[in-house]
Amino acid sequence: MGELIKIENLRHTYPGYEGQEVVALTDINLTVSQGEFVAIIGTNGSGKSTLAKHLNALILPTGGTCLVGGLDTAEGDNVWNIRQQVGMVFQNPDNQIVAAVVEEDVAFGPENLGVAPTEIAQRVTEALALVNMSDYRYHGPHLLSGGQKQRVAIAGVLAMRPKCLVLDEPTAMLDPRGRKEVLDTVCRLNQEGITVIYITHFMEEAVAAHRVVVMEQGKITMQGTPAEIFSQVEHLKGMGLDVPAAAEVAAYLRSHGMKLENDIISDEQLVVALCP
Ligand code: ADP
Ligand code: MG
Repeated sequence: MGELIKIENLRHTYPGYEGQEVVALTDINLTVSQGEFVAIIGTNGSGKSTLAKHLNALILPTGGTCLVGGLDTAEGDNVWNIRQQVGMVFQNPDNQIVAAVVEEDVAFGPENLGVAPTEIAQRVTEALALVNMSDYRYHGPHLLSGGQKQRVAIAGVLAMRPKCLVLDEPTAMLDPRGRKEVLDTVCRLNQEGITVIYITHFMEEAVAAHRVVVMEQGKITMQGTPAEIFSQVEHLKGMGLDVPAAAEVAAYLRSHGMKLENDIISDEQLVVALCP
């Protein structure tokens, strides 16, 4: 698999009040391959959103480099190309929906790219099908649930045919049902080949990724498979992070002498381990 994102020694400082700089990222090294599903977790203020913004050249490194598809985000000429490769989805669905009808909203991105009208119609059909929202094509977005709105926002990004989706806490404002709709959609898109970078504070969601990256105070301090990361229950809790309920229950039972494997991180695995 080719490298889609290659970040080396990335540093980001924001100008703060009275000349006090805020160091949001230091020494970030991260490579993401085409087709991967990477979850990023970390407490508030650990730098997750700042990192996400670099992937789309919304902000530029104050040190080090960020390459997307081999293109340096710091080169102005690359920005257009990079934004076509990497689509962003943010937390609040209402801030991302611009049109009064779902299909117009999904068409907005390709229209801005100058795509021909007949092809736009085709892309809208395709993108809505990918997020299971075809039936809502002519609906008003304001009548949709949060999960449906986020799926429309994802369709709007897909209509630009990106290689990679970066989602920054896309389920933070949704109810459990909406969260499941969005996560299921993202998993399905990844299975169809799109690279996914998924920032979340719901650990049960991070379990769905191939790789989990943990951020602390502007640095990446751990990364590994979900099983490698979430088996470190005490360590994560010490950092102020949650762990998936199943991992916590398994750790508790282990501490009371029960023999359970270290890689139990999902409810299904726990059930199988307890009721073989
Ligand atoms: P996270 O998404 O993990 O909560 P952020 O990337 O939003 O973290 O923030 C990382 C750090 O950078 C925090 O200390 C935050 O206060 C600071 N920060 C974020 N955005 C800005 C900004 N526009 N100006 C100044 N400081 C910022
Ligand atoms: Mg954030």
